[in-house]
Amino acid sequence: MKIETISLHTKVIPLKKPFKTALRTVTSIENVFVFLKLENGIVGIGSAAPTVAITGDSTEGIKDIIKNVLAPLLVNKDIHNLNFLLTAIQNACIGNTSAKAAVEIALYDGYSKLLGLPLYTLLGGKKTLLENDMTVSVDSAENMANEAKKLISEGFSILKIKVGKNGEKDIERILAVRKAVGPSVSLRIDANQGWRAKEAVKIIQSLERQQVNLTLVEQPVDATDIEGLKFVKEHVFTPIMADESLFSTRDAIRLLENKAVDFLNIKLMKTGGIRNALTIASIAQSYNVECMIGSMMEASISVVAAAHVAASHPNITMIDLDAPLWLEDLTVDHHILKEKIILSEDSGIGISHNSLSISV
Ligand SMILES: [Mg+2]
Repeated sequence: MKIETISLHTKVIPLKKPFKTALRTVTSIENVFVFLKLENGIVGIGSAAPTVAITGDSTEGIKDIIKNVLAPLLVNKDIHNLNFLLTAIQNACIGNTSAKAAVEIALYDGYSKLLGLPLYTLLGGKKTLLENDMTVSVDSAENMANEAKKLISEGFSILKIKVGKNGEKDIERILAVRKAVGPSVSLRIDANQGWRAKEAVKIIQSLERQQVNLTLVEQPVDATDIEGLKFVKEHVFTPIMADESLFSTRDAIRLLENKAVDFLNIKLMKTGGIRNALTIASIAQSYNVECMIGSMMEASISVVAAAHVAASHPNITMIDLDAPLWLEDLTVDHHILKEKIILSEDSGIGISHNSLSISV
């Protein structure tokens, strides 16, 4: 079954409220949608989220790479050669992981639609109900505590708390949130590279002494500081997770061989798509290191694709896919329902290109 055309569409989606981390403040997002049309009319869809601060990928860069580098490798090729096509995409250029991810998602979606199977079935899994978290932006301790309380009343039982703006204030922020939500709520802390290694140890040890139980601390130090991650991990009891330090399968091996972290956070926009995400989860499994799947500030298509990956891999045990809940326009989302993600039994990722109101 030949791939006939690959077309792109860009969409700006406003956020309901600003999303603030130690790295950036976001008020709207722009996503690039990929439509991969097969000769029988089936359309596979994918999307990419430009995050220059994290991946280096811009909207124009993503469009250019897909149009001029990736699409020519796929047009007129047989989609039944899926693994060979995926390899060609990964080998086509250095970096550009967001563009590669969008095209991979469209390929997997088109292929599973062609076979008439949900993507998670194609990938060999059947966890169709996933427990999601919700993020609290970095803000004053009082505002963060109020927001956390509100989210718990809405049904969330896992919160991701963004910090990394100022060490002393971060302790106050986390203490205020814990006080507001009580002891049973799972708190995942994300410093987004905002601390130095010794500072991170001081902060986390202080929270441990005050018996603020934290499920994990994500990326306490700079992405390139693998020794710093290891230093933090070795000086605290709280599990440490890599996010911005992990893009490729080789990054995963380096982190795991160095015993630098307790957990990995996999995102399709960093790995360059689904196949590397699955490979990283399997590599981590052989080191007994569990994985979370997360996303950038992305529209539903790529986030739902990430949920299919999570549904199919036993070593992805944590879900951080709240991005669509921040958007004014859910881009046809019937899957991500607050604290629960329910994947449909429709073929592919379960989203039809017709529901996007974009002509292909
Ligand atoms: Mg993170």
